[in-house]
Amino acid sequence: MTVPSVTYILRRLAQVITCEAGPYAGRVTPERLGIVEQGSIVVHRGRIAWVGPDRDLSAEWLRQDTVELDLSGHIALPGLIDPHTHLIYGGDRLNDWMERLRGRTYLEIAVQGGGIWKTVQDTRATPDEELKRLLELRLDRLFAFGVTTVEVKSGYGLSEAEEIRLLRCLQQVQATHPIGVMPTFLGAHAYPRDMDRAAYLDVLVQRLLPEVIRQGLSLSIDVFCDTGAFTVEETLYLLTIARQQGFVAIHLHADEMSPTGLLEAIDDWKNIYSVDHLNHMDARMARVLAETGVAAVLLPTTCFHLRLPTPPIQALLEAGVVVAIGSDHNPGTHPGLNPWYVFWLACVGWNLPVEQVLAGMTVQAAYGLRIHGQTGRIAPGLRADLVVVDVPHYGYLLYQWDSLPVRWVFKNGRPYQIRETAEIRYTWMSHEE
Ligand SMILES: [Zn+2]
Repeated sequence: MTVPSVTYILRRLAQVITCEAGPYAGRVTPERLGIVEQGSIVVHRGRIAWVGPDRDLSAEWLRQDTVELDLSGHIALPGLIDPHTHLIYGGDRLNDWMERLRGRTYLEIAVQGGGIWKTVQDTRATPDEELKRLLELRLDRLFAFGVTTVEVKSGYGLSEAEEIRLLRCLQQVQATHPIGVMPTFLGAHAYPRDMDRAAYLDVLVQRLLPEVIRQGLSLSIDVFCDTGAFTVEETLYLLTIARQQGFVAIHLHADEMSPTGLLEAIDDWKNIYSVDHLNHMDARMARVLAETGVAAVLLPTTCFHLRLPTPPIQALLEAGVVVAIGSDHNPGTHPGLNPWYVFWLACVGWNLPVEQVLAGMTVQAAYGLRIHGQTGRIAPGLRADLVVVDVPHYGYLLYQWDSLPVRWVFKNGRPYQIRETAEIRYTWMSHEE
């Protein structure tokens, strides 16, 4: 996409949350968040050119060809980054959802024909155009809520042709949608029920890993290591082959449903960007993550909807791990799209300070994807990806999460004005006898 030639000046912002000192190892305090009160931001040629107190804004920027926005009473923060989603699929899993609330477990539902395999069948039955339309609708909503970059995993194809098809559809949408999409190959999401285990592992290693690289579909891989999914040995084997094939970014679904011992079994941490979920993680492994610089991506929605144990958050923060927060959007356990709900759930459910989660959904998440040198902070030289919200203090992001007035989203320096266009679904009238 082209870079806008106009210079935008965002003036008199009540607060600019810069996250300039991030990514943060361990705890994030208000002092570390880099808050500018009564701030201004200069956006020039797609990038942040300057940020600071409005009174220090150089008159040089106030030329004729600049567009000045008076944003008194608003705050600006880095565009949200979602480091873990399963956004490309067909169908839904309403039945799973309702069965779970009747007391059935994830594994029981999977055995009865629900779970990932249900979505694989629905996705396979969805034509390309419909799959792309559904994905675009989801991305539209994320973008309007302030998400400027989102990681999207494949994984509902589970055959050579279908996994490639999902990544191709993703690539086509990525080329036209303003949101930044980072595709991850998750062919190792589950074993397909229409193929023998060993045969599918063979398809992954012999066919899919080389093809994904050869066709330039993704350099990022994820493996779901858990009971009923891939074993520790299979996961380590896949990572070895993936590295040989040229994958440079590794994410892992680790210790989600059960303690697998995966983290303990990893000798080579090279290219492992993040380990995600960690509900059953042994807290003693926090030190290893801190030493190796691996991000912990925590996913509150799945944690609460599946009633999983709380990850060892305090141990991770104590050890100095970079802790990011993701939505884990997926049709089974979190079909929602509002990132501010994820924000609220992390704060209230896990008793985390607002600052910790705000950083977790911006600069820490950028680190989880290793794009923190380009985005996730409001600092000179970085891409101008930011969100303007009509509230006077960042605390309202949590306090009134369900009715946040997001007014502007800047992506690569291009402004998008957000308008509330949702049709009125219900109305009422007074009824007087
Ligand atoms: Zn996931």
